[in-house]
Amino acid sequence: SHIQPLISLQRLEVAYGGIRAVRGIDLHVNAGERVCLIGANGAGKSTTLRAITGLVPLVGGAVEYDSRSIAGSPPFDLVRRGLIMVPEGRGIFGQLTIEENLAMGAYTRRDASQIRQDTERVFTLFPRLAERRKQAAGTLSGGEQQMVAMGRAMIARPKLLLLDEPSMGLAPLMVEKVFEVVRTIASEGVTILLIEQNARLALENSDRGYVMESGEIILDGDARDMLNNPKVRAAYLGEV
Ligand code: ATP
Repeated sequence: SHIQPLISLQRLEVAYGGIRAVRGIDLHVNAGERVCLIGANGAGKSTTLRAITGLVPLVGGAVEYDSRSIAGSPPFDLVRRGLIMVPEGRGIFGQLTIEENLAMGAYTRRDASQIRQDTERVFTLFPRLAERRKQAAGTLSGGEQQMVAMGRAMIARPKLLLLDEPSMGLAPLMVEKVFEVVRTIASEGVTILLIEQNARLALENSDRGYVMESGEIILDGDARDMLNNPKVRAAYLGEV
């Protein structure tokens, strides 16, 4: 097709010592798409995201973002070009206040009044954070910390948002709230690549999906088709 993907992984390979965690996968996300990568513990999902953001080196293959190779790009360049990750474990600075954590999202920006507006918008989306803006982030609940991490990502003005297990460890109501915000962000045109162990939640919030097993993509397709696929239902949605 004539559509240029916003990001594409080509024959991507990553290894830790002798262990090949990612074994030559192809994956792409078009501009404006919401795509999920699902799979069991240890399948290689997080490693794939780490390779995109340069936290682990590639053994083989290529990563192109916005039509350019980004292998070896410093994090600052990726952030400035709109490639923003919300990491597993959230990457919150526990000693800093909520406001200070959010301000970290703006470190590549110079437009102070726009930054203030974006920060207020995060507080409007997450009123719980507004009430606690001067509080140390380390004292927040897991769900509130997830909100801070997502708020910080939004303030970085993402083009492509990489979400690593946003539902991890959260109570059902908090998961619902987090995904409501993911939908809001997506509706504003941000492209999303989501990693989730909760396959149903991921597919219900995506246009397309990929299934990873032992470092390989074993299935991909339209998210709705995948929700109806008997193999996916049996293996990943806990149905017989
Ligand atoms: P999870 O949801 O449990 O994080 P995952 O699909 O994200 O699973 P990865 O974390 O990418 O899987 O792990 C893929 C494989 O790589 C696993 O076998 C894991 O043990 C191994 N691995 C991950 N990180 C490292 C590391 N820093 N050093 C060595 N091996 C690692």
